[in-house]
Amino acid sequence: MTINLLPDLDLTEAIKQWQRERPKAELKNLIGERLTKRLAQQWLAFSGESKSVGQYSSKEIAAISARFHQWRIIPSGTGGYRLAEVTKGGVDTDALSSKTFEAKQVKGLYFIGEVVDVTGWLGGYNFQWAWASGHCAGGFV
Ligand SMILES: Cc1cc2nc3c(=O)[nH]c(=O)nc-3n(C[C@H](O)[C@H](O)[C@H](O)COP(=O)(O)OP(=O)(O)OC[C@H]3O[C@@H](n4cnc5c(N)ncnc54)[C@H](O)[C@@H]3O)c2cc1C
Repeated sequence: MTINLLPDLDLTEAIKQWQRERPKAELKNLIGERLTKRLAQQWLAFSGESKSVGQYSSKEIAAISARFHQWRIIPSGTGGYRLAEVTKGGVDTDALSSKTFEAKQVKGLYFIGEVVDVTGWLGGYNFQWAWASGHCAGGFV
């Protein structure tokens, strides 16, 4: 995952502007005006000691800018089945009637909800699918 901590700012350009207009100000305070101070301070701590903005070289500015605009995170894994909230896969939707949820090949056999190959984002879509498909199939049984 790549996270842009300052999506509304071109940090390289901003630092160059600060170098012209406020060269004695500390960079952490200037960035702290756009982010929380503690986060700005912590992020800059990775690049060494805190300095006034006028003291940063172009190479340092590029590295700092990349750190704020392209914070890269590689997830170490998922929480596994124990924490899983929805299952991908299931009964093929092509094998079911889209009106009644009855299996096309087996009369009187219905599949709804989680067991069907329909997967929603987290946020209620899976409940909605389970209830709506159940309601629909129930109306035809
Ligand atoms: C931890 C967790 C959090 C979730 N949070 C959300 C959320 O916030 N929003 C959202 O939309 N979805 C959420 N979901 C997904 C959602 O719960 C499911 O998509 C939904 O409950 C599916 O409903 P269902 O009726 O199809 O299946 P289920 O709710 O799984 O119901 C199947 C039922 O069949 C029973 N059963 C199984 N085998 C047999 C058998 N042989 N004989 C008799 N009974 C049997 C089971 O005991 C179960 O009660 C979450 C799921 C989990 C696990």
